[in-house]
Amino acid sequence: MKKAEEISVLIIYTGGTIGMVHDPKTGSLVPIDFKHITRHVPVLSNSGFNLESVSFDPVKDSSDIDPVFWVRMAEIIEHNYDNYDGFVVLHGTDTMAYSASALSFMMENLTKPVIFTGSQLPIGLLRTDGRENLITSIEIAAARENEAPVVPEVCIYFDNKLTRGNRTTKMSAEHFDAFSSPNYPPLAEAGLHLKFNYNHIKYPKEAKKLIVHKTFDNNVAILKLFPGINRNFVQAVMRTEGLRALIIETFGSGNAPTYRWFLDDIKGFIRDGGIIFNVTQCHGGSVEMGLYETSREMLAAGVVSGKDITSEASVTKLMHLLGKYKNNKDVLKHLSKSLSGEMS
Ligand code: ASP
Repeated sequence: MKKAEEISVLIIYTGGTIGMVHDPKTGSLVPIDFKHITRHVPVLSNSGFNLESVSFDPVKDSSDIDPVFWVRMAEIIEHNYDNYDGFVVLHGTDTMAYSASALSFMMENLTKPVIFTGSQLPIGLLRTDGRENLITSIEIAAARENEAPVVPEVCIYFDNKLTRGNRTTKMSAEHFDAFSSPNYPPLAEAGLHLKFNYNHIKYPKEAKKLIVHKTFDNNVAILKLFPGINRNFVQAVMRTEGLRALIIETFGSGNAPTYRWFLDDIKGFIRDGGIIFNVTQCHGGSVEMGLYETSREMLAAGVVSGKDITSEASVTKLMHLLGKYKNNKDVLKHLSKSLSGEMS
């Protein structure tokens, strides 16, 4: 069995509030030099684990993270995969759920923890939530039982909860409890003890070599329905040049207006080679196409049910599948299945 000091964790700082301190000269928030993280979180020096860090240069506010940076994160993990037992990715909270979802699709045969975390308040502030988030994420990334990592998944750890990355969504721009996983139970909860929810953690069936998929196609769009939606707007979206797949954020259990024009436009888009993915606007629950009249015709037209997938996972899953397969038949075959635990 590995002793604590033989367990190594790589911290990858991409940017975001967690790594910020107030510059005493200007008063504005500036990124810290992550090599000196122990100055801000002295307890890390006594963690017992072998901790190392790398940082994006320059660091990125997460609103600027896109597929190029997903590839960068994944490559850092890929190049260091054999040398570390786990990885902690420090990331802005705003798009963390997108990045965690994207990496969950990119990293096939993952057998090590990749734990995303961040904070609502900068690590340099007294009331920061960043210290606890960082320390517990490291503990989770290092956690091993029976010679194997306890959570070999891409996850988000935030405010005492560990959730599957591709099931998680940001729900608060104010509270420390900023993320939720409405359709899948937490993988661990941190109180006095770290309690792992073993039955809900995904374990690899057999050890296979890590494969990192690095191609994305961003010819996707999200159309959020609302009562009174205008046909010109719907058609403008559908006629976007190069658009291969459209996510329609529908009402309730996957319902949409039954206007004739709406169904005709959907059929036309699919006939012309487009893919439509039906994802509910509700935070919890699932699309059930055919349950109501208002989704029956969409089902007949070839719209694919997103079941209980999050919006973040739906867009990254499509970018990943469109990047991987040029042929719609292959994309459709994988779109309706769970690739990485993202839907039931
Ligand atoms: N704007 C920041 C970001 O997402 C907010 C945060 O880190 O929480 O990068």
